[in-house]
Order: sequence, then structure tokens, then C-alpha cells
Amino acid sequence: ARPDIAGCKAALAGLDIDDTPATVKQKSRDFFWYSPVLKARMDHLTADFVVAPRDADELRRALAAAYAHDVPVTTRGAGTGNYGQAMPLAGGMVLHMKHFDRVLEIAPGRVRAEAGAIIAGIDRQTRAQSGQELRMHPSTAQTATIGGFVAGGSGGVGSIRWGGLRDAGNLLSLTLVTCEAEPRTLRLTGDDIHKASHAYGVNGVITEVEAPLAPAYEWRDVLLGFDTWREANAFAYALGHQDGMLLKQLCTVAAPIGQNFFKRHARFIGPHDHLVVAMAAPNAMGALDAFAARWPSARVLFRSDRDATEGLPPAYELGWNHTTLRALRVDPSITYLQVLYGEPTVEKIVEMAEVYGDEVPGHVEFVRFDGRVRGMGLPLVRFTDEARLDAIVAGHEARGCPVFNPHRYTLEEGGMKQSDPAQLGFKRETDPKGLLNPGKMIAWDDPDHDFAAQGFYLFPGMAAQ
Ligand code: FAD
Repeated sequence: ARPDIAGCKAALAGLDIDDTPATVKQKSRDFFWYSPVLKARMDHLTADFVVAPRDADELRRALAAAYAHDVPVTTRGAGTGNYGQAMPLAGGMVLHMKHFDRVLEIAPGRVRAEAGAIIAGIDRQTRAQSGQELRMHPSTAQTATIGGFVAGGSGGVGSIRWGGLRDAGNLLSLTLVTCEAEPRTLRLTGDDIHKASHAYGVNGVITEVEAPLAPAYEWRDVLLGFDTWREANAFAYALGHQDGMLLKQLCTVAAPIGQNFFKRHARFIGPHDHLVVAMAAPNAMGALDAFAARWPSARVLFRSDRDATEGLPPAYELGWNHTTLRALRVDPSITYLQVLYGEPTVEKIVEMAEVYGDEVPGHVEFVRFDGRVRGMGLPLVRFTDEARLDAIVAGHEARGCPVFNPHRYTLEEGGMKQSDPAQLGFKRETDPKGLLNPGKMIAWDDPDHDFAAQGFYLFPGMAAQ
């Protein structure tokens, strides 16, 4: 049925609604423009209006009205996703979660917060009240919401110790509201959590997230320089395996990315420095110095407990997609890929650098993956055209390095989320009319979708692997 926008808006009288075209356009966009491919396909998209429910009753009212009037709904946290996840392909309603911003409960080992709470704000409260912090956060912690992270992200700062959102135990429960005539509230625990994790909100609106906490530290930022890309990565890989040194973040960036793009740290970095960027617990610093002294060319370029830090961003804002952001600000023709390097990890990282050279400058995040340290690349790409980009993706995959393609907006083509019959069945229950973030799940739109013909996924399907 055709969406009845006017009828839906009328049913929502009294709610916080905005239909000013400029605001609606702004709230219909995310960081899709990181990808020249998505930029060309999605730039024109805009919803019809924005609703920001103030509480669970208003949220249910908004979803019931959308259902009654066949209006598509795209849920929005802070709009920092970079695969166009939060872009309304079919117009309709943007459901903005900004009023769901409370931390509800802090206990030993866990926190429960509303989905629209900003991640850094949750951390501030858990630190102040209990000396604990979230195990992991995206590098966008200062702006992104916890619900948006769960629904659209994968891991980040902390993943060197704890793995990613995909790993059992890193989310404790989710509360979800369905899009039906009478929206239901479901609480997902255990494996059911992964029906809604990294699902772009296609099967419900997350209202609460319960996540585990770890002891909080005053993390030290450290930049080390190396003469070769191989040595920088071999060092990071070995450091990641040092079980006694507590790290929060560990990545490598190839020269001259540091000097060219890390503007505020550039004074510490030489043009030939291949960097290791780490965050370590204060009690690990002595061991880190001693460990670095064993490597032929390792030199400490910057330490936040030694050098003046005024005006500098935290080290985690040099990593993850902040590396890409800093490069894009200097050279708008740059884009990026997401690669899981095959094993042996360091050999694969070096091999890709040799094959692609300066066309694909290296950036590798080291993370714990199925219990082992692996290199998760977010290499920069000097973009020429889409055909070449596809060839670079295919070239990585042919050499045993699966790509989670950030130039696709569907769950399946992005390669992070495997849809399977359980996932599809859950969407049938929670969103029978297919109104939630339409167009993002191929398995819903294509009845002939072949679940079997799929590749490697970061969040695998629900069935036993
Ligand atoms: P949004 O962009 O608003 O939404 C993301 C997706 O979730 C959308 O599909 C949206 O519809 C859905 N959604 C949002 N809220 C809800 C809800 N309550 N219920 C259901 N669905 C919902 N990601 C990482 O995982 N790790 C990183 O380190 C990282 N670094 C980044 C660095 C930069 C510079 C940028 C631009 C992005 C980065 N990202 C990273 C991607 C993104 O910032 C994170 O995933 C972030 O947590 C998304 O949160 P958000 O509130 O902005 O979500």
C-alpha cells in the first residue's frame, strides 16, 4: 500500500515532530559520503518527517501509526554510520532516538542504558559511579549512541582485549519494540541478541542496551615509529599477544599517513615513520618500554604521560574510521576498505602492501578474533573509479583476505551480517509489513535469495556453524 504520510502525521499530533525540509534532509544523512560509490547512489535520499518520541509510550504510538499508514521507518541514533545504514531509501519517517538518553542502572560488571544515550556519556557515568567503563566503543564514542553502535557498528576501541560486538558476552540484553498494529516490547538475551545486533534496525527499534563493564583505567596514548611496514606490524602483532600488558587500542598506519594526515600529532612524526598507535594501562608502560627496546628500529615518538597533550585528540581518534576521516579532510579523493587479513597475518598485511603500494596505504586494527589476534584492515584507497575499486576488493579476496565491503548499503553485501532463515523469520514477526529500514535486507526483498551461496561474514547466521 502507498504510504499515507499526512494520515500518519495527523495520528502523531502532540509528539516531537519536525518536517522542516532542511532538518529532515540533515536527519536523513549519515557518513555514507565516505564512499564515493554510496555518495553517487544515496545523496538524493530524504525522509518525509522526523519524529523523536519522548518515552516508550510515544515510541509505540509512532510505530503503530507507521504500521496503520504504511509509512517506512528508519531509526536514527547520531547518524555516524558510514554505510548509509541510517539513510531512508523509501522516504517516510526518521525515528530519532535523542530523547532516550538515560543511563538506567550501573552495577558491578554491567550497565543498562537507553538506546539514544551517547557512548562517552555512559562511560563518564560508569566511571564516576563505579570505577568501570564499557569494554569497547567505536572511535565515534563522543557523538555516537549506544543503540546505533549495537545496530550499526561492529567493535572498535577495546576489541584488542575483548573482541567485537559479534562475540557472545559482549552484549547482555537488548530491549526491542516491534512495528505492528500493537507494537510489542521484547527482551532479547543470549543468542537472540544477534537477531538485532548489526541488523540496521530492520527488525525492531532498540530501546535499551545492557552491556558488560570492565575496570576503568587512565589509558596512556603511545605512538611508536618503525623503519618498515613489516616491522611495525610484526611488533603490533607480537604486542597484541602479550597477555600481561593491558591494552585498549592497537593499530598500525603506514608512512607517511601519520605525518600527512594526523595534523595535530604531526610534530611528533617523521615522514618515514610507520606508526604503531596504542592505548595502554598505566601499569603496562614499563613493560611496554622494555618490550619495544627489543625491536631493532622501534622508537617512542609520543607518550601522553610524558609529552604535552593540550589540543591533541585521544589516540583512539587516530584509529578506526577516524584514520579515514583525517585522510579525507586533506585529500577528498581518498576512500577505504575493510579487510580481514588472512593468516599468517603479518605476511598477508605485507603482501597486500606490496601488491597495491601507494594506491592502498596501510592501516590495520589489531583485534581479538575467535580467541586469536588478527589484523582487521581499514586501508585507505586512492579512488579512481568503481570498476577499479571492485577489482581491488576481488584482489584481496583472491589472496585470502575477505573484504567487508563498505561501499554497499545492504546487510548482506556489506558482508558483516549473514541473513539466514532465522533472521528472516524474526523480521516476519517483528515487522510483518516490511516497514523498518526498507531496502537494507536482500533476503526480505528477494524471495529467491540463496542463503547457501554466501561468503565470509563477521556476524555469522544464527544456526550452528
Ligand atoms: P546511526 O548511524 O544513527 O545508526 C546506525 C544504524 O543503526 C542505522 O541502520 C540505524 O537505522 C540503526 N539504529 C540506530 N539506532 C537504533 C535503535 N535504537 N534501534 C534500532 N536501530 C537503530 N563503527 C564501529 O563499529 N567501530 C568504530 O570504531 C567506528 N569508528 C567510526 C569512525 C568514524 C569517524 C565514523 C564516521 C564512523 C565510525 N563507525 C565505527 C561507524 C559508526 O560511527 C558507529 O557504528 C556508531 O556507533 C553508530 O552510532 P550512531 O548512533 O551514529 O548510529
